Amino acid sequence: MIQLPSKHSATGNTIFAVMSGLAQQYGAINLSQGFPDFQIDEQLSDLLAEATRLGFNQYAPMPGLPMLRAAIAADFKKRYQVDIDPDTEITITPGATYGIYTAFSAILQKGDEAILFEPAYDSYIPNIEMNGAKAIPIALTAPGFAVDWDKVKAAITPKTKALILNTPHNPTGSVWSKSDWEELADVVRDTDIVIISDEVYEQLIFDGVKHYSVLEHPELRSRSFATYSFGKAYNNTGWKMGYCIAPPAYTQAYRRLHQFLSFSVNTPAQYALAKHIASGKASAVRSMMEGKRNYFIELMKETPFTIQTPARGSYFQLATYEAISDMPDTEFAIWLTKEHGVATIPVSAFYHNKKDDKLIRFCFAKKEETLEQAVAKLKLL
Ligand code: PMP
Ligand code: GLN
Repeated sequence: MIQLPSKHSATGNTIFAVMSGLAQQYGAINLSQGFPDFQIDEQLSDLLAEATRLGFNQYAPMPGLPMLRAAIAADFKKRYQVDIDPDTEITITPGATYGIYTAFSAILQKGDEAILFEPAYDSYIPNIEMNGAKAIPIALTAPGFAVDWDKVKAAITPKTKALILNTPHNPTGSVWSKSDWEELADVVRDTDIVIISDEVYEQLIFDGVKHYSVLEHPELRSRSFATYSFGKAYNNTGWKMGYCIAPPAYTQAYRRLHQFLSFSVNTPAQYALAKHIASGKASAVRSMMEGKRNYFIELMKETPFTIQTPARGSYFQLATYEAISDMPDTEFAIWLTKEHGVATIPVSAFYHNKKDDKLIRFCFAKKEETLEQAVAKLKLL
């Protein structure tokens, strides 16, 4: 058999496939991979059916249905008071994972370097490497997981062409403050660095904290791709729908690749999302998820896990388990799934060197009864 080349350094399957697979195999409650276990808004389901009946069943235009791009632009105008040109600045993507890969691909060439912050969503490093570039990971500083800007300055070389950030942050739930954006602007000002701002959890932010989007910072916006996922905002991760917002020249470069990667995206889903967003019914997700976070943290007080910092955004909560075991985190997560029926994600999976701080990640985007059933098992530890 002819050997195929390996395009990236990650070995084995992504931790999300591994832990969800184990959860299924052992009949465990799945608080590992990030997805809601409750129904989507009925209006959105009805609109999807309506789209197929009305004949929205053939290829959409390459950048996305105009009605969806217009709905996104109006939504951002309302929520962030920013002007986005739906024709030249928005591209609909099959999810944000694809959106991020395509942005890296538009920016990077062989031999370039790209900075990312760890713990990091596990597609970033493989995506950088698949584009022939070198990933430069910078560790966030626990327990608040803030960026150490001196480390960023020290990591920049003439080869640095991209920097990816994620706020609200998976897996830590930390959120960038306005001063982080100012620091970023200072650091990249005299460089050739293009920003990828992964804002998939922008609507999942708690305690009255504001999400600052890169789109609100004119200087940074002019050198950024901002990526979003409908899955997080509308609880429909399986639709794999997202979008990328970037200045016209970057959008052009992005579409040059997109047209030959997927060309276009699921048409009925675009129709349904466009109508749903335009109906203005969308924003209940924040308070619902905040309620779930609070409920989960309250329930967890009855278990031997320790929650150091409540998540300020995303739908993930980190916890330590030193009162239960001194196993490495991956071993612990597998043991917890097999022996105690609750699946989680070991945070070492988000580090290139599998750094183990004995932390695991719980997804709280679940029905109350699911959280209660999981905690009933965790209480027995
Ligand atoms: N970035 C982060 C930080 C995520 O957690 C996710 C969720 N999987 C994505 C990107 C990708 O989103 P999607 O499911 O739309 O591909
Ligand atoms: N974003 C989700 C998580 O972090 C799921 C990602 C995936 O399954 N690829 O769990």
